[in-house]
Amino acid sequence: MSPLFETIAAEPLVPALCLTIAIALGVAGCLLVHFMPRSARVRAETAALRESEARLRTSEARFRQLADATFEGLIIHRNGIVLDANTALAAILGWPQELLIGRSLYDLCAPSGHNLLRAQLEEINKGAANEVGDTPVEFQLRHADGSTIPVEVHARTMPFENGDARVVAVRDIRERKAAEERILHLAHHDALTGLPNRNLFRDRLAQAMARARRSGSTVAVLCLDLDRFKPVNDLLGPEIGDELLRQVSLRLTQTTRADDTVARLGADEFAFIQVGLAHPDGPAFMADRLVKALSEPFTICGHHINIGTSIGIALFPSDGINGDELLRAADTALGRAKEAGGNAYRFFESEMDMRLQERRRLERDLRQALSSNQLELHYQPLVDCEHLTVTGCEALLRWHHPERGNVSPTEFIPLAEECGLIMQLGDWVLHTACREAASWPADKTVAVNLSPLQFRQPDLAERILAILDETGLCPRQLELEITEGVLIEDTERTLATLKALKAHGIRISLDDFGTGFSSLSYLHRFPFDKIKIDRSFIWAMEENPDSMSIVRAVIALGRSLRITVTAEGVETAAQLAWLQNEDCDQAQGYLLGKPMSRTAIAHLWANAQGRAQSELPLIPAKAAE
Ligand code: C2E
Ligand code: MG
Ligand code: MG
Repeated sequence: MSPLFETIAAEPLVPALCLTIAIALGVAGCLLVHFMPRSARVRAETAALRESEARLRTSEARFRQLADATFEGLIIHRNGIVLDANTALAAILGWPQELLIGRSLYDLCAPSGHNLLRAQLEEINKGAANEVGDTPVEFQLRHADGSTIPVEVHARTMPFENGDARVVAVRDIRERKAAEERILHLAHHDALTGLPNRNLFRDRLAQAMARARRSGSTVAVLCLDLDRFKPVNDLLGPEIGDELLRQVSLRLTQTTRADDTVARLGADEFAFIQVGLAHPDGPAFMADRLVKALSEPFTICGHHINIGTSIGIALFPSDGINGDELLRAADTALGRAKEAGGNAYRFFESEMDMRLQERRRLERDLRQALSSNQLELHYQPLVDCEHLTVTGCEALLRWHHPERGNVSPTEFIPLAEECGLIMQLGDWVLHTACREAASWPADKTVAVNLSPLQFRQPDLAERILAILDETGLCPRQLELEITEGVLIEDTERTLATLKALKAHGIRISLDDFGTGFSSLSYLHRFPFDKIKIDRSFIWAMEENPDSMSIVRAVIALGRSLRITVTAEGVETAAQLAWLQNEDCDQAQGYLLGKPMSRTAIAHLWANAQGRAQSELPLIPAKAAE
């Protein structure tokens, strides 16, 4: 026998005894009532009935108190008619509690929930409705003031007054819904401007495309990129930049219709979906309005700020059949609008896509060029205007592609900057120029162009000094040509790098002067060794007196700051004569020598030893490119 059975069997007497006594007392009670006189029995029965009624009332009141004390609403209904409801439910609905009894559930439910209610009632009739433990159902109730209240309900069947009824527990989930909506809003909107973010934009675009597919209509995607936002942000600070973005988003929403989506995709990138296009010119009209709206000045903290926007437009379904394709097409068109100088819009054209593919091919080829000896440096003489002697050369990168032939640096340098190859390319140029110039006469300089992106390398100065060390070129023979873009980027770090280089005797030239910001404060803040006047001014001098005045003013400025001035692009004897007359220090141009190969330059140095350097042209035509 198991130990459990042993325990039970060991103590059988106690419960048996209790049971016997209870039965005996019960039987005695019954006999007592039975043998009472009739009147006394009736009195006793009435008293017992009253007592049980009173007990029932107390218990009912206690249950009602209990029901009213809960925070959840409770409804008891049969076939959709309310039999009872607690005060919490009356409070949720804003109805007096007594008016709820006898009402149809349809009166309490918001019209949007009627179908669900009907389905639930039908299930109850079929006996298949939810029981305890089943998933709660979300409903929409109708408040007395007409508003909709989201609730969560649990229901079960229980016996109630001569039959079965449904008891429904109703939980007000307004707060939870509001919190959920806030979270959803944050996940789908940009915190700074409150505009839809990229995720929501993609959703809306997918919906717009699905609708357009059904109706055979067109959707336009407009990608916007602000012009000149970066300088504003850099010069006036991020607080003003943020406020500017907020004001931009306000103007965008005011310019568009409420059912159009305007989104912020990135720092100063916005996008816009235009649906329901009644007219084929709709996107052009809209783009024009947006360009105009953003070209009006903004006033922030007393600053009058002028920016603008460039817009690229792609159409569904002609330019792309999914979101990615459309955005890519709009982005390509945006690049075209930027190239046009900003404050403009461009439609995507399939030939642009071909251009994009061509760029990718070129990028792949350029990577290969670095490793397969297709690159070479040519050198263009820099000539002293007074004595017409060659003081040095500018190194210019040449790419000879096996199939494409010579590719211009104006084409591949920007590409290398875009795809990040410029660092490798820049290093190669510095190495090669220093190594080749190390065999030149000691008084001849070599000028190397540096891309603004190369200045992002914090160790640029050390790298250049290491290259000088390795190649044996004297620092005084090296000139670095930079454009103003370099100074705009990160002024403090750039100035520190330039000063470190200058401290080692390397000379710094400001290239293409007049084409960038041409801020005179740069000349003041950084002691350049040379200013190179952009060739466009030299070419325009003969026809345009303004250009002549500018060139004259820059020569005078250089003289007063004790900076060498070089005129670029000198092609005619008249230009050279004029520059000599104005006491310009140096000239560079096809008249004085085209860029030439390493061997041609070696010949030049060899010949220059014994020949009079005042004769023009300095470079025999066959040695030039
Ligand atoms: P840049 O530094 O202003 O170079 C001068 C450009 O003007 C060169 O064009 C040169 O061939 C051209 N040029 C010089 N004299 C004349 C003239 O009398 N008439 C005409 N029509 N053109 C003249 P290139 O070699 O095509 O280079 C264009 C630009 O590409 C350069 O402008 C420079 O910004 C960039 N570049 C060239 N090589 C390099 C390099 O190694 N690194 C970097 N970062 N940029 C480079
Ligand atoms: Mg240059
Ligand atoms: Mg230049």
